[in-house]
Amino acid sequence: MSLQYKFFKKTETTGPIVGIDLGTTNSLVAIIEQGRPRILKSRDGQNLVPSIVCFAGPQGPCVGTRAKQRRVIDVQNTVFSVKRLLGRSFEDLKNSKVQLPYEVVEQEGLIQIRVGDQTYSAIEISALILRELKEMAEKDLGVPVSQAVITVPAYFNDSQRQATRTAGRLAGWDVLRIINEPTAASLAYGLDRKKEGLIAVYDLGGGTFDFSILKLHEGIFEVLATSGDTSLGGDDLDRVIAQVAAQEIEKTWGICIFDEPKLHAAVLDSAERLKIKLSTEPQALMQVIWKGQTYERKWTLEEFEVLAQPILERTEKPCLQALKDAGLQASDLSDVILVGGPTRLHGVRQFVQKIFGRVPNTSLHPDELVAQGAAIQADILSGNNQELLLLDVVPLSLGLETYGGIVSSLIPRNTRIPTVAREVFTTFADFQTGVDIHVLQGEREKVQDNRSLAHFKLVGIEPLPAGMARIEVKFLVDADGILQVSAKDLRTGVEQSIEVRPSYGLSDQEVQKMLQSGLENAESDLGFRRLTEVRNEAERILRVTQKNLPQADQVLPPAEVETIRTVVTQVQEEIQKKDVRGIQDATARLNQVTLRLAELLIKETISRSIKQS
Ligand code: AMP
Repeated sequence: MSLQYKFFKKTETTGPIVGIDLGTTNSLVAIIEQGRPRILKSRDGQNLVPSIVCFAGPQGPCVGTRAKQRRVIDVQNTVFSVKRLLGRSFEDLKNSKVQLPYEVVEQEGLIQIRVGDQTYSAIEISALILRELKEMAEKDLGVPVSQAVITVPAYFNDSQRQATRTAGRLAGWDVLRIINEPTAASLAYGLDRKKEGLIAVYDLGGGTFDFSILKLHEGIFEVLATSGDTSLGGDDLDRVIAQVAAQEIEKTWGICIFDEPKLHAAVLDSAERLKIKLSTEPQALMQVIWKGQTYERKWTLEEFEVLAQPILERTEKPCLQALKDAGLQASDLSDVILVGGPTRLHGVRQFVQKIFGRVPNTSLHPDELVAQGAAIQADILSGNNQELLLLDVVPLSLGLETYGGIVSSLIPRNTRIPTVAREVFTTFADFQTGVDIHVLQGEREKVQDNRSLAHFKLVGIEPLPAGMARIEVKFLVDADGILQVSAKDLRTGVEQSIEVRPSYGLSDQEVQKMLQSGLENAESDLGFRRLTEVRNEAERILRVTQKNLPQADQVLPPAEVETIRTVVTQVQEEIQKKDVRGIQDATARLNQVTLRLAELLIKETISRSIKQS
């Protein structure tokens, strides 16, 4: 590992909370000021920061516009579209047929990107981008900034979510929440329109496609269904244009662009520029200059749309699936919102209109909506806008391997999060003392057709005849959509729990090692970070509890309310004492004693919303 993480050190604890849209092509940071989202400015005064890293800058790696300028001239040192690789295995990449002009190598099943004689994981590269966003936010706001909400495609699986969270952590961010991009977009859409009804968010970005259906009612944003494709986006449109250019260049120059990384990068760059021109003009010229030769081709919009059609058609199935999952017809929707750069294309708008039988809403800013929504969620976590409530869902079903290589689903896709599911299993062999737990994600029946998230073993089961043991497996999905699994022998009480680690990312030890290796004062800084993390979490739960205490008087018996008040005081005292263990214990107690209150309030909000709808 060659990156120096010393400049990734977290230095502060409080301050503003920002929203980050970590995009395949561009990233944005936003904040709420006077009730309105504002996009923060990059070093060069832009709203969009290209998600590109160039490792050959004069002062080490550079990110954003400067890196984009070097993308063609310094292709072997420049990495882009890295979000396509986040949380993925080498095997995944081979199957997805993604072509990238930089070299990708396999290391123990993981993807590593080769730059010169170094290799980097997608998490490390994303961390560099997130670090740049941190510096730019601090420069724009003039204060230290370390707390953020980061968005991910709704259809990101557990590994991809965890990889995003790890990258944030490596960059020195305290990632308070991971939220789904279309859900964020709907927050921004609904903030001041006070719209009600069923809306769909069609989000076609640089490398991912997401589709979600939401119900907006009295400040409640309830995701009814979500679907998508994490390997589909505007980059694919560039590639089909580049493919045509590749054939013509091979014919006239006798050169295969895929053997010439610089030429390949130049062709992709021109293809993207052509695509963007065709969003406003009926025809445009594609031009590639290489080693004194010029390749030119005039494209009409119609020609491009014919090529784009098969790619756009791939978005139809997820849309229909989500409508079906939500039990809706296209005609039930009151609005279809377009998000993402490619939705500026006439062909995309036409296609959306064909699927839904209505003209989509193009009045919103397709690049900024997600970041704005992330900022709104950040504002909610800061204690403002408390009348807004997000009810999100898991995008893919979660289950366990059972006898015969079949998946037993515990949490079906589109279940609201946070959620808990339990199932009791038994043993197959006489006097079995251990069971293997294999956690899977996906919609298919057979184990091998789903994504394997984790394996672990519960040992110490009481030896009993087959079928007598009672093993309870519990799945808990938190508000970030991240899964925690535990297994318990109900007779002996032996329990084991794991937070499902990303199969295709960095292990926790590696992350710790990276963080540690760069810290100048490792010990005190680690202690400081721990205290910060624990205190942030405690303060977050305190804020929510204090906000809900007035309602607690109405729904809980006085003794229970009194207990909550006592534990609130205990948490505050432990924070004062700066005792990590003490804060953790008191926070856990507070979580415990407010469990019933949270359930009652959510039930009440939902039943109120159902009654009024
Ligand atoms: P996003 O992930 O939303 O930043 O979208 C990035 C993608 O949008 C890239 O593939 C861009 O090439 C594409 N894009 C940006 N502007 C336009 C435009 N005007 N027309 C078509 N595609 C665009």
